[in-house]
Amino acid sequence: MEKTVYVKVKENIVLSRLKRGHIHRFQVHLSDNALGVPWKLPVIIVQGKNKGKVLGITAAIHGNELNGISTIFKLINEIDPMKMSGTLILVPISNVPGYLKNQRYFSDNVDLNRIMPGKDSGASSSIYVHHFIKKIIKKFDYLLDLHTASLGRVNSLYIRADLEKPECRNLAYLQNPQIIVQKFDEEGTLRGWANDNGIAAITIEIGNPNAFQHKLIDETLLGVLNTMKFLKMIDGKVKNLVKSTTICDHSFWIYSSKGGIVDVFPAIAQKVKKGQLIAKVYDVFGEVREEIFSSHSGIVIGKNIRPNCDAGTRILHLGI
Ligand SMILES: [Zn+2]
Repeated sequence: MEKTVYVKVKENIVLSRLKRGHIHRFQVHLSDNALGVPWKLPVIIVQGKNKGKVLGITAAIHGNELNGISTIFKLINEIDPMKMSGTLILVPISNVPGYLKNQRYFSDNVDLNRIMPGKDSGASSSIYVHHFIKKIIKKFDYLLDLHTASLGRVNSLYIRADLEKPECRNLAYLQNPQIIVQKFDEEGTLRGWANDNGIAAITIEIGNPNAFQHKLIDETLLGVLNTMKFLKMIDGKVKNLVKSTTICDHSFWIYSSKGGIVDVFPAIAQKVKKGQLIAKVYDVFGEVREEIFSSHSGIVIGKNIRPNCDAGTRILHLGI
């Protein structure tokens, strides 16, 4: 059924002015495109009946990483604002120009998740994130930033978080991932900026780009609802979902050294042994140019699935 809903364009959102027990939908003006027309960020705010914490969930800051969009849509259907405390701020498409072009980067080909918090003058990407931080992210108490693997790669459902920060470790352990990886907050990332500014934040990597993978989306949703229970935003018992989760104290990529046609063997979330054959690189005549062996024992967090690769391609993301 088609229905046309008029959605207000806002310059700013004032949470205290939004009616409680209600779901609000806005487009927030961040910066302008080459037509002089605003880039409008879709924002859904679930304002609970009672006061409480503000949980922000951002998706598609890389414009082709789409599983988080469906996670947010499913979450809205699960929540009754009349039975909720606090506020959910949901941003299903954080990188609007990237989403329109089905690409990771902003319209000026910059990775938004490397330049946070941006500047109020300078490159178009920098201005966009400056307003994104100022108008949206600063309102959060907690942040779950939803991502997927990059183009040409596939991921497990895994968490990147600085487990040495107690609040981030808590957030990570409330989710329902296959793998949790200790990651210090990288400068320029949304998670890094948030954690430096008093907003406890983790990154949730949900499977593959350019797709809706409903099994992984539903597992992510369980973790989000668990987080809301922990933050006393909704009723219910907090569950221990990490019983079968592998926790890694670090991770790294194994690269090819030759170019050619690459075939990577282990499956996602499979355990591999030190010295195990993990990939072969063929020449264009089908002769093996390189055999790649795992340098350590560990678990497969992500892997390359694009066969045509230059020398020095990321082959396998190994968690230790
Ligand atoms: Zn991403």
